[in-house]
Order: sequence, then structure tokens, then C-alpha cells
Amino acid sequence: MTVRTGSCLCGARAYEIDGEIGAVWVCHCSLCRKASGSVGAAILIVPRAQFRWLKGEDHGVTFALRETYTITRCRTCGTPLPAETDAANIYVTAGTLDTPLGKGIRTHLFCASRADWDRDEPDARHFDERSTG
Ligand SMILES: [Zn+2]
Ligand SMILES: [Zn+2]
Repeated sequence: MTVRTGSCLCGARAYEIDGEIGAVWVCHCSLCRKASGSVGAAILIVPRAQFRWLKGEDHGVTFALRETYTITRCRTCGTPLPAETDAANIYVTAGTLDTPLGKGIRTHLFCASRADWDRDEPDARHFDERSTG
């Protein structure tokens, strides 16, 4: 069986996902944009039975931004980590995966709320590493 692992930036929290999981969802709503400080939240929806913490299960801080919207971050490094507020599924922040997913983004949500800069310019530049200028 395929096992994927993920962790926060400082390594205090780490998790494991068993078996096959679906492609990535990206939510562009205004809450996800603010909470991420970026284009939005990139999420994997994983059934609870397939997810388990390897360490740091209690090392998170949860912020309740709205009654129906909370985010959990590592207490040490602030990395946004899997949310466990749903009874059936864990909402795993895709950027914390350490193992390749083998799939891309399949769904974009709240596209009407997308930031106007959330797109490539026609002459967008891509570098394998940092920019040289
Ligand atoms: Zn951390
Ligand atoms: Zn959202």
C-alpha cells in the first residue's frame, strides 16, 4: 500500500497518509487567501481512517476565524497543517506533503473571489531555483 508522509517546516509535527487519495482542491475564497497570504488554500481531502499523526499531534494552535472556518498551525513554526474539524475527513494542506502525490490540481473553488493577480503574465518567468535578477 502507498504511504505518504508530510510535516511542518520545523519538523515538530509529522503525519502519514495510507492508500490512494484524490487530486488537489484549491480554494480561492477571501478567507483562504487571507489565511494563506497567497492564492488560497491547496487541500487534499483524506478520509480519517487513512490519516494519522506520527508526532506533534498536540503541538498545534487552532484559530477560529469564523464559526465554520478554523485553521491549525504549528505552535513553533506557524506552518498551516491538516485540519481535523470535520467528522469524516481530514483537510490536509497539500504544501506540507513530503512525498510526491502523483496527481495535480483537479478543482478550483470560489473562482469568483480569485485575486486579480492570481494568473501568469504573458511574459511570466520560471526559474528552477532562485531568480538571478
Ligand atoms: Zn513546525
Ligand atoms: Zn476557502
